Amino acid sequence: MLPVPSPSSSAAAGRYAPSPSGELHVGNLRTAMLAWLFARSTGRNFLLRIEDLDRARAGAEAAQVRDLAAVGLDWDGEVIRQSDRTPVYLEAIAKLQAEGRVYECFCTRAEISDAPRAPHSPPGAYPGTCRNLPEAERERRRRERPGALRLRADVDEYTVHDVLHGDYTGAVDDLVLLRNDGVPPYNLAVVVDDAAQGIDQVVRGDDLLSSTPRQAYLASLLGLPPVEYVHVPLVLGTTGKRLAKRDGAVTLGALADAGIPVPEATAMILDSLGLPGTLPEALEVFDPRKLPREPWIFTPPVR
Ligand SMILES: [Zn+2]
Repeated sequence: MLPVPSPSSSAAAGRYAPSPSGELHVGNLRTAMLAWLFARSTGRNFLLRIEDLDRARAGAEAAQVRDLAAVGLDWDGEVIRQSDRTPVYLEAIAKLQAEGRVYECFCTRAEISDAPRAPHSPPGAYPGTCRNLPEAERERRRRERPGALRLRADVDEYTVHDVLHGDYTGAVDDLVLLRNDGVPPYNLAVVVDDAAQGIDQVVRGDDLLSSTPRQAYLASLLGLPPVEYVHVPLVLGTTGKRLAKRDGAVTLGALADAGIPVPEATAMILDSLGLPGTLPEALEVFDPRKLPREPWIFTPPVR
C-alpha cells in the first residue's frame, strides 16, 4: 500500500513570529491562534520563529512560548531565532549587491524627513538622496558615519493578494536592507526567513498590510516564492488604540490574577472570533469567510 502523505510531510507551512519584547497580550495571542487555525485547517505545518533582531528582553521568549502553549498552540520542528541567522541575511544582501541593486545611504532620520520630495510620494518614503552619490562623496560621508544599505527599487508600487483584503497595492521605496548599526531590518529578515522555512502562508496583524508590498517586491527580486497573505484585524483597547500593557489586565498572567484563568481567557479570545471554547473545537468549525472583519475592542476586567 502506498503511504498516505501526512500534513507534516508537506513543506507548506504557516507561522507565528513574535518579537520577544515583553509578555504576549490578548491581541498577540488572538493573532497567533488565527495563524494556527489557518495553518492547521489547510493541512500546513505550523512554525514558531522568534524575531529578536531588535527588541529582545531577557526572559520574554520563554514567557511567550509558555503562553502560546497554554492557549493550546502546538508547533512543528525547532523554534528558530533571527539573531542566529545574520549570515543568511548578509548572503541575501550580497546577491542583490552583485546585481547592482544596493547602494549606501548616509542620511539621518531628520535629513530624510526634511528632504524635498515629489508631491505624491507617500509619507515616510525615502526621497532617494543617496541613490546616485559620486564615489568621492560616498568616501567623504563614510568617514563621518557608517552608511546603511538600501535597495535600488525599480518600481514605486507593488500589488499583493490577501485572503481577507483582496488585491492590495502599496508603495515601494528604496527600503533599507542593512541598518547602519549592521542589523538587518524586519522587511529583509521576514522574507528571507519565510522562504528558508518553507512558509507559504503568512497570517499576521493588519497593521503590517501596508509594508507587505515592499516585502513581496523584495522577495520577487531574491527569486523567492510568493506567499499567501492573511492580514487579520487587530485587538484595540477601549481608547481605540492598539491594545497595550497600559490598558490593564491584557496578558494571561494579569487575567489570571483578575480571576480569569487560562481556559476562560482562551475561550474569551475564541468567542471574539465567533468560535467555540478550545482550539481543537475551534479548528473543527473554522471558516475564514465567517471571521469578523472589524477590530475587537477588548475591555480588560477590573479586579
Ligand atoms: Zn541617504
